[in-house]
Amino acid sequence: MVEPEELAVVAALNETLERLGRGIDARAIDAAGRIPSELIEQLADLGLFGLSLPTEHGGYGLSLSACGSVVAQLARFDRSVATTVGLHLGLGSRGLVAFGSPQQQAELLPAMALGRPIAAFAATEPGAGSDLTAVRTRVQEGGRGVQVDGSKIYVTNGALAGIFTILARSPGLGGNKRGQSLVLLRDTDEGVKVGAEEGKLGLRGSSTTSLDLDGVQVPADRILGVPGQAPEQLAHILAWGRTMMAAGCCGTGRAALDAAHRHCGFREQFGRRLSALPVVGQQLAEGEALLFAMEALVRYAAGSDEAGLRTRSLAAKVLCSEGGWELADLAVQLHGGSGFIEETGVALLLRDARVPRIFEGANDVLRVHLGLHTAGSAQPVEGDSLEAEVANLGVALRERLGARLGGAPLMMHALGSLAGLALASRAAVERAEQEASPQATALAETWLRLARLRALPHLHRLREASP
Ligand SMILES: Cc1cc2nc3c(=O)[nH]c(=O)nc-3n(C[C@H](O)[C@H](O)[C@H](O)COP(=O)(O)OP(=O)(O)OC[C@H]3O[C@@H](n4cnc5c(N)ncnc54)[C@H](O)[C@@H]3O)c2cc1C
Repeated sequence: MVEPEELAVVAALNETLERLGRGIDARAIDAAGRIPSELIEQLADLGLFGLSLPTEHGGYGLSLSACGSVVAQLARFDRSVATTVGLHLGLGSRGLVAFGSPQQQAELLPAMALGRPIAAFAATEPGAGSDLTAVRTRVQEGGRGVQVDGSKIYVTNGALAGIFTILARSPGLGGNKRGQSLVLLRDTDEGVKVGAEEGKLGLRGSSTTSLDLDGVQVPADRILGVPGQAPEQLAHILAWGRTMMAAGCCGTGRAALDAAHRHCGFREQFGRRLSALPVVGQQLAEGEALLFAMEALVRYAAGSDEAGLRTRSLAAKVLCSEGGWELADLAVQLHGGSGFIEETGVALLLRDARVPRIFEGANDVLRVHLGLHTAGSAQPVEGDSLEAEVANLGVALRERLGARLGGAPLMMHALGSLAGLALASRAAVERAEQEASPQATALAETWLRLARLRALPHLHRLREASP
């Protein structure tokens, strides 16, 4: 939930974005493969790049929920724009905000709050994607402090950014033989070279480049926090980033459903509007229930304490990225042949909705993590809710497998999928209670029914995978 004291500022920003958004030409951005610099300036002037940054450094100091709500609003108009801002607010700047020294923060954050510079985050390498323990980029003592060598790929905001948070292995630093650290590099540091823009299936307006780091020598205080602490820092930064990204997927879902409602409200076949056809009506109603649960889960994750955020953000990222894709696909389907033609805009929504299922942790990897967490921590729960069923399955698997849980990825994958549905169910029920309207109650009830249906294949898989 957006904190009460933030409601006014978020409402004002969203209203401004509603006006600005109508002027954003998503198809032109897609065709050009870049966001016009005047639009980035406008977003910066609105203060969007400072939303999550502390007020003492010129930001708005908004909560994750509030930032997510603004990113979702941006995504309704263009996903590339939302990704550019969301990445800056999440993965790009979170490390500095959470773990930077007072000097680093004072030096960098005020300018970052103005979007000058924009921030990026570079962990992935050719040999290290889902498995970030395989990172080869190295930071070691050298020159004026430390030296960074290596190369990164798929860096969002790469060509726009002036500051990069880099994941590197750091053997020997801070007294650790092994270990990884996060290092802040500037685009102006000697030896930092940004590669060419990648050609992509979607999200074409969002910059994605490689980054070469060749003998980059920087002061030792560019390392974020204590050397060797990157895994713990990453857990926090990625939880933030995933939640922000999930919020963007809700914006895509809203745009897709709005387009589908518009089209089905006037297109007639069989002598009736498409929306009056029972099958279409059910698809639209269930799409609304899915979006209700997606939004509820993002708020639920964003409003959690640190431990809750780390797990719930896994569920939110998976549900929302798959939901965003599903709703964009529904919009294309309900537009019929015209959905396949670029002019209607829903084809672009679909292309843009594909990569969130892959980046910031491929969904199947996150499902396994969520399954492991569920099996490791579940407590018995009474009742016949999906949540109770999943918790009890988790307890049973822990009792049966003990320390061998990690060696049962198929079961953990199925359990993680179920846990995501259960968390979304709880979030939807809580949202309906808070909103206390007949419409919210109906949406939550529809979602509970859908979640039960969606659970069936995973329950079946779990039985299949059980030894
Ligand atoms: C447009 C774009 C922007 C990106 N932006 C950034 C960025 O800003 N910063 C950054 O650091 N990275 C970024 N990435 C990288 C992204 O996070 C990785 O692509 C992602 O983590 C997957 O890694 P990979 O591509 O190496 O796939 P791999 O690790 O090779 O995995 C390929 C597939 O195998 C499956 N898989 C792998 N391991 C498992 C497992 N244990 N269990 C089940 N299935 C598994 C999954 O289906 C996965 O999708 C971006 C990528 C893209 C495409």
